[in-house]
Amino acid sequence: MKTEWLRREVTQFAPYVVAPVHETHVINANENYANVLDIPEVRAAAEEILAGFRPQVYPDPMANGLRTALADYLDVQPEQLLAGNGGDEMISYTLHTFLNEGDTILVHAPTFDMYEVGASLIGAKVEHLPDLPGFRRDQEGILRTIREKQPKMTFLCNPNNPTGELLPASFIEECLKAADNLVFVDEAYMEFAGAESVVPLIDRYPNLIVLRTLSKAFGLAGLRCGYIAADKDIITEVAKVKNPYNLNSLTQALAAAVVRCRDKILPTRDGIVAERERLYEALKQIPGVTVWPSRTNFLLMQVDESLSDTLFDAWKQADILVKRYQGRALLPGAFRLTVTTAEVDDAALCVLKGVMARA
Ligand SMILES: *Cc1c(COP(=O)(O)O)cnc(C)c1O
Repeated sequence: MKTEWLRREVTQFAPYVVAPVHETHVINANENYANVLDIPEVRAAAEEILAGFRPQVYPDPMANGLRTALADYLDVQPEQLLAGNGGDEMISYTLHTFLNEGDTILVHAPTFDMYEVGASLIGAKVEHLPDLPGFRRDQEGILRTIREKQPKMTFLCNPNNPTGELLPASFIEECLKAADNLVFVDEAYMEFAGAESVVPLIDRYPNLIVLRTLSKAFGLAGLRCGYIAADKDIITEVAKVKNPYNLNSLTQALAAAVVRCRDKILPTRDGIVAERERLYEALKQIPGVTVWPSRTNFLLMQVDESLSDTLFDAWKQADILVKRYQGRALLPGAFRLTVTTAEVDDAALCVLKGVMARA
């Protein structure tokens, strides 16, 4: 293949890399360890959906059944929602709806990579605002940059991946007031935060887009379903950009059923939150380990960079795959551990203690 055939942005593109999985215990992607199909109500709904499934027919382009279920969950109008193949697809569609080549987006750093990945494919520029020490977002810096530079889109991940830090809704509202342009708030982990979502603000701020996903607290990472909530004019424009049949009919039906069964599913997050706090305390006790408080289903921890390889390999030897941040100036010696069962968390702890004791 001739490289001249490629679009300029693709030639220089640094894709998001998904680590190959060979391990039994996978705690690198913040998946839910529970299978929703083990819940009798969900299994019954899934069997009913499969019994009536007609794969020869195209799905509903706007996924109206799913939008209705999600609208009921979030207490918004279905017209204020748009669903797609995971939050990642909705990030991409939103960028393609609003960004021109040469526009600038603002992101705090470190954060989720997909905003930058998508923006760079369009040829947009990315301004990074590093966190303050202790991975606290530089709230003043964010507000100042919005006021002075009016970036085309500002991305706020809340709570933040990978740091776990939560921004107060009041700060986000200040950003919305300061911005003449769009503010995109990624609430992929909001169900774990026990905090105020900014979804209700879509009624008052036409420049707000909120991203949610069913991949984390709802345990549907493999089914692929994420959605945005925003003013209906925003939804209308993003809907023009999306592929007509972007969300397959099985996902639409099963996701809607799972959202309707949420009273059976969401209580499991209380267990995950309790386990997160137990794991946090245990990590804090290990000499040489720095762990950061989290409002999500994962914990970010750091060790001396010289131990990074040894530790990562020791976990692999123990059949555990964690997320490792390699070559990131803002994340030296950093690992992100998804909170799972006490058994798996204890196995990960045991490996870590062994490596740190020998260091
Ligand atoms: C997981 C995640 C998403 C969306 O993931 P999908 O599986 O594509 O829905 C979005 N933002 C953040 C910060 C995430 O961690």
